[in-house]
Amino acid sequence: MQTPTVRLLRDLIATPSVNPAFLPEGDPRTGEHRMAEHVQSAARAAGLDVATETVSGRRCNVLVRLSPPGKVQHRILLGPHLDTVGFPNLESQLVPKVRDGRVVGRGACDTKGCVAAMLSALLRVARSGTRPAHTEIQFVGFVDEENEQLGSRYHATHHNPVDLAIVGEPTRLQVVTAHKGDVWLRLRTTGRSAHGATPHLGRNAVHRMGRVVDLLETTYRKQLSKRSHPLLGSPTINVGAIRGGTQPNIVPDSCTIDVDRRTLPGESEASVRRELRDLLRSAGVQAAFEPLRLAPCDPLETNPDLVWVQRLCRAAGRRRTVGVHFFCDAAPLAKAGTPSVVFGPGDIAQAHTAEEWISITSLERGADILERFLRTLP
Ligand SMILES: [Zn+2]
Repeated sequence: MQTPTVRLLRDLIATPSVNPAFLPEGDPRTGEHRMAEHVQSAARAAGLDVATETVSGRRCNVLVRLSPPGKVQHRILLGPHLDTVGFPNLESQLVPKVRDGRVVGRGACDTKGCVAAMLSALLRVARSGTRPAHTEIQFVGFVDEENEQLGSRYHATHHNPVDLAIVGEPTRLQVVTAHKGDVWLRLRTTGRSAHGATPHLGRNAVHRMGRVVDLLETTYRKQLSKRSHPLLGSPTINVGAIRGGTQPNIVPDSCTIDVDRRTLPGESEASVRRELRDLLRSAGVQAAFEPLRLAPCDPLETNPDLVWVQRLCRAAGRRRTVGVHFFCDAAPLAKAGTPSVVFGPGDIAQAHTAEEWISITSLERGADILERFLRTLP
C-alpha cells in the first residue's frame, strides 16, 4: 500500500493549501506556498528544472520542466491545481489516512491525487534516463483553481500556447474534452414606491420581477431544453436568489434576481444577454442587466481527433472522450490557444465532501497511464 505515489499523496494532504477565499484572512492553513515548496523539492531531487511565477502576493504557480535532449519541437503541459476548499473539521482532514484501499483526507481526489499522479509519472520518466527526444514536458501547479482560477489565467496570458494541456481533475481516468461554461447575471426591475394603502399610486417592482422569473423558469427553460450537445446535453438556467422590497406597507421600487446560466460551446455571455433581452422584450417585460462575476467561465470544447488527444486516449485505453459538468483550469488555457483536456484519477463525486477520498487503484493507474503517455511522446 505504501507506494511512492501514495507516500507523496499523504505528504501533500498533510501540507495545508486551503484557498484563501474559504478561511478567515491570516489563517495559517491558507495559501499554496507550502505545496509549491513540496513539489519543487521533489522535482529538484530528480534533477528537473524548477521555477515559480508570482500570481499575486505570496501565491505562485510552480513550474517544473523536463527538457528533451534534442531541439524542442513540441510542448506538453501537465496542469493540476495546488489549492483545496476548506471545511469545518479541517484539522482532522489534514491528517491523511490509508484504509480500505483508499487514501482519505482533504484534497485526496480534488486534486492532490492528480498532483501526485502527474508528478510521479514525470519523476519516473526523469529518473529512467530515457526521455522524449523533441518534446518538452512541463508540470505547472496552479494556484486558486477553486475560486477564480487566477493561476491558470495568469499562466495563459504570460506564456505561448503549447501542443496540449492535460488539466488534472478527478475524471475517473476518462479523457474529458468538453465542459459547460457558466454565466452569472443579475437582473433588476424598477418601479415606483408608494404607501401600501394606495398601491395604485406606485409601480410594484417585485410584481414585475415575478413575471421575469416565470418567463425564465418556464418559457426560456423549454427553449434551452431543445438545444443539445453530444457530450454535454442541454444548457440550463437557474434563478438562484431574489431580493426586493423592505416591508409590507411599502410598494417596492426595486427587485433583483441572480441567475446561473450554464452554456454550451458556441454560447457566450453576450449571446445569453441578447437572447434574454429578446425574450423579455417580446413578452413586454423590462429588466436591466448587471454583471455578477468579473472572470468569464467559458465552455470547453477540444477536438477529440487531435493527435495529442488521441495519444492520451490510447495510453488510457479509451476509445472516446467525454464531457463533464464542472468548470476548471482547462477553459482559460484553451481560450488562450492551448488545446486542453481534463484527466485524472478519482471521482468528482468525492470532491468538496466531508470525507474526501481517492482509491489507491485509481491513483496508481493514473500515474501509470500518464507515464505511458509521456513515453510515447516524440
Ligand atoms: Zn479541482
